[in-house]
Amino acid sequence: MRNLRWAGAAAFAVALVAGQAPSDGARWWSHILYLADDRLEGRNTGSEGYRQAAIYVAGEFERAGLKPAGTSGYFQPVKFRSREIVEDHSSLALTRHGAAEPLTLGEDAMLSMRVDPAEHIDAPLAFVGYGLTVPEMNYDDLSGLDLHGKIAVYVSAGPASIPGPLSSHYQTAAERGPFLQRAGALGTCTVMNPIAMDIPWPRAALSRFQPAMALDYADMDETFGQKFSCVINPEHLDKWLEGSGHTSEEILKLARQRQPLPRFPLDGRLKARVEVRRSELESPNVAAILPGSDPELKDEYVVLSAHLDHVGVGRPINGDSIYNGAMDDASGVATLLDIAERLHRWGSKLGRSLLLITVTGEEKGLLGSKYFAAHPTVRPEQIVADLNVDMFLPLFSLKILTVYGLEESDLGKQVRTVAEPMGIRIQGDLEPQRNIFIRSDQYSFIRRGVPSLAFKVGYEKGTPEEATAKQWLKERYHAPSDDIHQPVDLRAAADFDKVILAVAEAVANQSERPRWNSESFFRRFATHGN
Ligand SMILES: [Zn+2]
Repeated sequence: MRNLRWAGAAAFAVALVAGQAPSDGARWWSHILYLADDRLEGRNTGSEGYRQAAIYVAGEFERAGLKPAGTSGYFQPVKFRSREIVEDHSSLALTRHGAAEPLTLGEDAMLSMRVDPAEHIDAPLAFVGYGLTVPEMNYDDLSGLDLHGKIAVYVSAGPASIPGPLSSHYQTAAERGPFLQRAGALGTCTVMNPIAMDIPWPRAALSRFQPAMALDYADMDETFGQKFSCVINPEHLDKWLEGSGHTSEEILKLARQRQPLPRFPLDGRLKARVEVRRSELESPNVAAILPGSDPELKDEYVVLSAHLDHVGVGRPINGDSIYNGAMDDASGVATLLDIAERLHRWGSKLGRSLLLITVTGEEKGLLGSKYFAAHPTVRPEQIVADLNVDMFLPLFSLKILTVYGLEESDLGKQVRTVAEPMGIRIQGDLEPQRNIFIRSDQYSFIRRGVPSLAFKVGYEKGTPEEATAKQWLKERYHAPSDDIHQPVDLRAAADFDKVILAVAEAVANQSERPRWNSESFFRRFATHGN
């Protein structure tokens, strides 16, 4: 645990007593102490705890002199439909030659509420490799397949032949959906890819009791007529492959090596009964503006985003049932508040305006940011960039900054220009197979054409820092222990906030608006000449 120090309440108290404008991360940490307190019960979308968190953020925005940028003061309410599995009344089985082999929910597989499932399913299964269609690479796992009335089973990964961002993009539900629909798929079963599993299966499986949510707007539905969705534990994949002539050892080895996967029909049918508890709710994004001062640039906005929601109260782990989400993502919200406060204290004047937004529903599928990007409270063409901060993990000193989207737009160059003189080395994504670039709110902006970046405290492969970061994911990611009683490096957090602020300032002050690089895949979404 080298380089770590215990950031407890005592350290915080000392900083406050010192009475100086804290630059050592104490103010950043103070926001986490509030947002990740048990009292806020893990800030689940739509919950009372989330509402309290939203009020807190709005209050801090106001204290920092920011102007409201919601539809109702600082708030932009978003409507959701919620679905919760009633597992006692649900079941899953494979039937072969008249005999049913029941599957254990939570062990063999879990029923997903990602789509609104039919109550009864009885359908044949087809293994479709990675289930990926990437038109620009002429790659299609579904080509020539008739999946009408069938459940498509695929490994959640992609072959090495497809570059990271492209592979990530086409693995999203929004991109896969239309291709699966065209092939006729009734639903999907996703085999989790062991090498990309941040969370061990037993803990991932506990999340099945948390409600899934969808935006409650007809034009924002992304289920493409699918009537069933489940997730398969790779350890029990053999049950599904029985009689197909293929083994899980063979399939998972190929997936691990990112080799092409075979496609073949599976023996037998899937039989499911799914009972769902449905409800409707509302939960706000919280948005504020620091007006720019340049007459030419002030009507353009640099967005700083972080998600305010976490996953709430769930099944207990080690006797604790509150999933506080201190790093995920109270830490990113705290960075935004810290930045707002610094700008206020210094009376900083920037060319462009800054739009700070803490969004709801990230854990449910980037829903709050998706809603904001579709219904921005400023004109969409005025948004020139998004800098997103989600779980940046200040567990050791900030010497390297990992930047997602580094090679995609000239924001990458800007980050280097700003951070390298501060003694920070910039690196791109070391693990594209984890799909980080599409796994947080920047992606909602990218899809609307906005050049974007996301950031984490970086490390080199094979170092103790890597081990610390991996250990954190294994033990604390989406677990109740991501709380205020964990060791973090306050100095690293303070340094991180400083760099993100410097990047935001540079982007707000540069004369040209940021542009996608000409060879970037994501440039296709550009709509405003950026
Ligand atoms: Zn999360």
